[in-house]
Amino acid sequence: MVNSSEKLSPWSSRNAAELYGIDEWSSGYFGISAEGEVIVRAPTAEGETQVSLMEIVDGLQQRGLQMPVLLRLENLVDKRISTLNDSFALAIEASGYQGQYRGAFPIKVNQQSHVIAEIARFGERYNHGLEAGSKAELMIALATLKNRESLIICNGYKDPEFITLGLQARKLGFKCFFVVETLAELPHIIERSQALGIEPLIGVRLKLSTKVEGHWSEDSGDRSLFGLNTNELITVVDELRKANLLHCFQLLHFHLGSQIPNIRSIRAGVLEACRYYIELVAEGAPLGYIDLGGGLAIDYDGTSSTSGHSRNYSVQEYCIDVVEAIQECLDEHQIVHPTIVTESGRATVAHTAVLLFNILDVTHFEPTEPLGELPQDCHEMIQNLWHSLSVIKPANLQESYNDLLYYRDKIRDLFHSGDISLRHRALGENIYWAGMQKVASLVPQLKRVPAELESLQEQIADIYYGNFSVFQSLPDSWAIQQVFPVMPIHRLNEEPNRQAIIADLTCDCDGKLQKFAGPVGESKTLSLHPIRAGEEYYLGVFLVGAYQETLGDLHNLFGDTNVASVRINTDGSIDFVHEIHGDSIADVLSYVEYEPNALYQQFRQTAEQAVRDGIISVADRQQMLAAYSEGLRGYTYFEK
Ligand SMILES: *Cc1c(COP(=O)(O)O)cnc(C)c1O
Repeated sequence: MVNSSEKLSPWSSRNAAELYGIDEWSSGYFGISAEGEVIVRAPTAEGETQVSLMEIVDGLQQRGLQMPVLLRLENLVDKRISTLNDSFALAIEASGYQGQYRGAFPIKVNQQSHVIAEIARFGERYNHGLEAGSKAELMIALATLKNRESLIICNGYKDPEFITLGLQARKLGFKCFFVVETLAELPHIIERSQALGIEPLIGVRLKLSTKVEGHWSEDSGDRSLFGLNTNELITVVDELRKANLLHCFQLLHFHLGSQIPNIRSIRAGVLEACRYYIELVAEGAPLGYIDLGGGLAIDYDGTSSTSGHSRNYSVQEYCIDVVEAIQECLDEHQIVHPTIVTESGRATVAHTAVLLFNILDVTHFEPTEPLGELPQDCHEMIQNLWHSLSVIKPANLQESYNDLLYYRDKIRDLFHSGDISLRHRALGENIYWAGMQKVASLVPQLKRVPAELESLQEQIADIYYGNFSVFQSLPDSWAIQQVFPVMPIHRLNEEPNRQAIIADLTCDCDGKLQKFAGPVGESKTLSLHPIRAGEEYYLGVFLVGAYQETLGDLHNLFGDTNVASVRINTDGSIDFVHEIHGDSIADVLSYVEYEPNALYQQFRQTAEQAVRDGIISVADRQQMLAAYSEGLRGYTYFEK
């Protein structure tokens, strides 16, 4: 539907920035150029370089990478790591804290090899390490990290093989910690360590009673699935003492959940953990490391609030609060300040990827053509509907809405009983949509909006069909109703006067985006531009660098998208560092155990039989087989 706003000053990119909240959610990494295109402000060696995403899209297309594309911005990976490390350094300096900070990137948050390689390469200067939750992730960490000052933190359930691998890492000089999550793994750690003659570095994961808000609240509190309770903690101390390994107990770990919205819960968790720290030191464990796990949140909806898609603190405030809480607590007991470890995943990589896709088609819920005059021979019900349309005014919106619905349903009934023609029914639908559009356009003039009319906007919103799959590229939007910022990446100098929801390519009613962050909070529709014939319309979904890629699935057999990693240079030139072509149709078929070659052979036989039966010519057969074979090699998404 069309916005009824009557602005006096012309629309500018400033208005677009406000509408889409880009300055609020982008942490300054994205903005809008005077030309009305989304730019990335890439931190480079000499300050900051701005590049339009449309320029990157051009470059991708020249390289044969079709939409959808997951765009990774390497400059931002570097920037996020330095922000985290520099912010802790500043907090430590400002408060006179005596310990250090060490980051460990949790591999599960984005396991893609180019991402991990970049984190390890750039993180080396900060001794930034990796967190592994499985054998496979530990193998990634061991092969990737070059700096032995960096930590490797092993969480998750550990079998003897996992433990052996970790001990070998110790022997190689890595600071590789086993974080004990269940009592069952402790005997294995002791046994393997004695058998191999290698001393482990041991941590324990605490089950804190501090509860956090937000989606991951279940990770904290008494019923959390992970961590040791107080009795189990005492058992660990006793067992380690018995095995002469208490001096290896050097790290205290807790993880309150991801995306913690409220800084007060973080502080409360740290204070509770410090109580354990003090008691364990009194028990004779040397400790020296306190590991807060993840939880540092992202402002997905730009509200700087505890909405659940946001947080009420900045990275710098997080660092200051953590450092000061530990310092205050331990100073009272004259305990040496430990090295502070965090395993921030989301906050490290969320900003660094953008999903780009094009719009394939739009469905409108409005008259397909101007209504003109009502034909002479119309059924009475159509005339009534027409009359209802003509009398709509602010004073009778609810009544008009009721009438429109009533007469539309009557007309449908008449069609079903054969009393009006297809053409007249279509006319009825057109009048109905014209009426609904008119009612919706007048709703903003009401002081009090009746409940039924509140959702009218959504009911008449356009559906824009995007060339992507929610299930493959934005699984959290479907699974946990996560809000991601979405907006057009060009034409932002034009007022976007359509209200829309976005549907993906899957034939699934959940395959859509219908929750958007807007200037006045969450909105169920997004303002978009009308598409123009012969011209692509590109949208970006932002802050998708954390968790989305590996959680994505093959719904309707839409496979991995094309991926491009770019690095922006000081002079504004763009290096396309890695291009990865997404899954072909043959790839996704083989994931579900089809043999593409066998499929081709089966199809060939079908075609061969058709030739023999005289249904198609040999030339037809040739053409069909070529198309089938080409199809197998093609992209799973819509290709031009
Ligand atoms: C998932 C996880 C993290 C990462 O959390 P973020 O909120 O993404 O920073 C860190 N540590 C552990 C133990 C985790 O399970």
